[in-house]
Amino acid sequence: MLSAQGSMSTRTLEATLAQIHAEVQPLFGRGKVADYIPALAQVPSQQFGMAVALVDGTTCSVGDAHVPFSLQSITKLFAFVMALKTVGDALWLRVGREPSGAAFNSMVQLETEHGIPRNPFINAGALVVTDILTTRYAHLDYALLGALRRLTDDPDLTWNMRIAKSERENAHRNMALAYFMKSYGNFVNPPELVLDNYCRQCATEMSCAQLAQATMFLANDGLDIGRNGAPGEQFLAADEARRVNALMLTCGAYDAAGDFAYRIGLPVKTGVGGGIVAIAPGRGTVAVWSPELDAKGNSVLGAFALERLVQLGWSARLKSDA
Ligand code: GLU
Repeated sequence: MLSAQGSMSTRTLEATLAQIHAEVQPLFGRGKVADYIPALAQVPSQQFGMAVALVDGTTCSVGDAHVPFSLQSITKLFAFVMALKTVGDALWLRVGREPSGAAFNSMVQLETEHGIPRNPFINAGALVVTDILTTRYAHLDYALLGALRRLTDDPDLTWNMRIAKSERENAHRNMALAYFMKSYGNFVNPPELVLDNYCRQCATEMSCAQLAQATMFLANDGLDIGRNGAPGEQFLAADEARRVNALMLTCGAYDAAGDFAYRIGLPVKTGVGGGIVAIAPGRGTVAVWSPELDAKGNSVLGAFALERLVQLGWSARLKSDA
């Protein structure tokens, strides 16, 4: 149930994760598994996993931390990073960087703001990002998968075709967002093509352990640490990593971003698959997953677990352990 690897003493972190694992159990039943994507509704709800990866290479995990789950909106983070690497600041001509304070799939602001989405993490913004990448990559789905396979060191990482198809068949709202932005001249490619890419992207599956590893570059000034004797890779410029973290803190949890910042105080990205990834710059990453969501589409147990982790003092512990 609990596993840890690494050179540093992880006893305190292991005990903390075990405690959190016990504390979340009574919370099952308080949320609801996402069902607007029919295939997601079939995911068994009573699952919980959590993984911590430290910049020194230490990892520690508990529960279902090695079970792959649907990343959904968490993939918006990787697509956004890829777009930043590809087009740089030109990205900001087509998408803003302010919290929306509205639901992840809201259409309301798009009309008054002339088809420019508030940020890259709401659906409208993520669709623009995928549109930008669709222009640059002939096979965006595989380009993104290639980057994620590198970051996780897992050549078998892939998307779940059944979930991608289920979302694509029910993507009426996202299609409407794309066409609405096209009416303002802020969409280049055919919405159908971009939605194909977007739904595959969202259906990518990873475990908590993999997600913590894949986001390590954001905790480490853009440098993905080397593993198994391999050298590290500067995946993103340090300055850009700082900016991505800022955006995660202000916009990473939909219309609950302020609440997350207050309760947890770390840059996060959540997804309706029930995953949340949190970045502690200079220290490490935490990935947590549990499928039951609150009314704003964030994992009930996941948010609680992250709040408990910061309350129990993992940051201080990391400093004194290091
Ligand atoms: N694929 C989902 C959608 O577009 C992602 C939403 C989410 O995770 O917030 O509706």
